[in-house]
Amino acid sequence: MKQSMTLIPTLREVPADADTKSHQLLLRAGFIRQNSSGVYSYLPLARRVLQKIETIIREEMDHAGAVELLMPALQQAELWQESGRWYTYGPELMRLRDRNEREFALGATHEEVITSLIRDEVKSYKRLPLALYQIQTKFRDEKRPRFGLLRGREFIMKDAYSFHSNAESLDDVYQKMYDAYSAVFRRCSLNFRAVIADSGAMGGKDTHEFMVLSDIGEDTIAYSDSSDYAANVEMAPVIASYEKSGEVARELEKVLTENQKSIEEVSAFLNTKPENCIKSLLFKVDEQFVLVLVRGDYEINDIKLKNLFEAGSVELASAEETAEIAGAEIGSVGPIGIKDIEIVADHSINSIINGVCGANETHYHYVNVNPERDFAVSRYEDLRFIQEGDLSPDGNGTIKFAKGIEVGHVFKLGTRYSEAMDASFLDENGRSQSMIMGCYGIGVSRTLAAVAEQFNDERGLVWPADLAPYQVHIIPVNVKDDLQRELSEEIYQDLKKAGIEVLIDDRQERPGVKFADSDLIGIPVRVTVGKKAGEGIVELKVRSTGEVAEIEKSGILSELKKSLG
Ligand code: ATP
Ligand code: MG
Repeated sequence: MKQSMTLIPTLREVPADADTKSHQLLLRAGFIRQNSSGVYSYLPLARRVLQKIETIIREEMDHAGAVELLMPALQQAELWQESGRWYTYGPELMRLRDRNEREFALGATHEEVITSLIRDEVKSYKRLPLALYQIQTKFRDEKRPRFGLLRGREFIMKDAYSFHSNAESLDDVYQKMYDAYSAVFRRCSLNFRAVIADSGAMGGKDTHEFMVLSDIGEDTIAYSDSSDYAANVEMAPVIASYEKSGEVARELEKVLTENQKSIEEVSAFLNTKPENCIKSLLFKVDEQFVLVLVRGDYEINDIKLKNLFEAGSVELASAEETAEIAGAEIGSVGPIGIKDIEIVADHSINSIINGVCGANETHYHYVNVNPERDFAVSRYEDLRFIQEGDLSPDGNGTIKFAKGIEVGHVFKLGTRYSEAMDASFLDENGRSQSMIMGCYGIGVSRTLAAVAEQFNDERGLVWPADLAPYQVHIIPVNVKDDLQRELSEEIYQDLKKAGIEVLIDDRQERPGVKFADSDLIGIPVRVTVGKKAGEGIVELKVRSTGEVAEIEKSGILSELKKSLG
């Protein structure tokens, strides 16, 4: 491709509102332009990278036994009403009306469409399992679109759905998809982890998120420093054991702790440590209030709480609700004497001797509190967030934290959609059963941005060879020089013939501009045709290492094959 004929609008300045490396560089290197908040045009270079990612995904999906189709982005409201998500998905779902006032949604995801399709077309166990995928534009009216392509309102997703007659078949395809995802992200050269995730609102069981490790990630991953264990920090179980000291239990006493609110303030005021305090928080679990206890140096994990009660929603009680139930400010709530409320505690509470807790009276705390002697707990459970330094849940190594960008998600849906939408089949015995489903998503445009986030340096993007928009960038230093122009053209044609993707900078620009643009765009190998063109000698430069070599034109092809792998 001749650079004069394509559109690569590079920028010298760092765009003011782009706050991540990938967003800045994709704008500056002329890959994307914003249209409206969270909505982008993919310019020719980005389109090429997307196509490469899509090709990798298609190959791996085909390998996993999934078949491509394409479903509508415009989806009738009735389907979403059937699944119930019309009412629960919230403002993220873009809704619109047609000329006859019929309601529609722009596809945020396609469980409804595919479930209705398959229920109409598949009736027998003989046609199962079936796995289908598409690569398509999705719409989500994100509250905070940001980081360029990483969180858009219009973005490209690969979504796959599988249908099964039994759980083993789902397990089998889930594993194949998991392996396919690992292969896709490996082929994209990404540094990633497959992490155990929360199945939460989707009501399924197993689920893994594929996370690209990056400081700008919005999710925290807890991973073992010595095994491949990794989980979303919300999901990681805690297997710590807590030791009870040999201290003798003293008599319970109520003390004035005026204006001491946080655990840190109270423990400092009472000359003890946060780990000796009983953090007591009143939660509203669906419609029921529950008092939850955790050691003062830990945090309550509301997802664990939600899962424990199999609740639809979990939130902290308001100050008014707390005052009504406990008769005190939030900072003075405690388990002693609180009535008609279930009390659940994290395992860490069990080992406290002569601890501190709120007295359910504003400005007062109890000291010398001993669980079981002074209050009863209905159950001790794992209710806290794992912390760095905790034992890894698989028993191997200790936990470290990292930030991650979710690029993929595999999920066992079970019968969540097939039951709601009546997608059933006849089994071997002629009995009707709900289909068992799985769903599997990859953020294609987000993956592009994640690669840009991991592969760059101070001069620009540094594309891995398999994803680069072109493999070779030819730069004639001076296009007005006949020798340089002719040799460049000759190499350009030779490389194209050899099946190499080449971009040639045939613009009449100063060399400095051309080199800076070339570094910014980040094509793996640069061939510079300069003063030695008359001798048939050019310079080869590898973008990632900066390695430079002078080479005869006859040796270019073999040298390129070496550097491009
Ligand atoms: P997130 O937690 O980041 O909002 P999600 O869990 O809602 O994502 P899924 O419904 O699992 O996303 O969608 C599948 C994949 O689509 C995600 O793993 C992610 O890579 C991609 N994706 C989701 N939302 C966006 C978005 N707003 N912009 C770009 N890609 C997205
Ligand atoms: Mg997800």
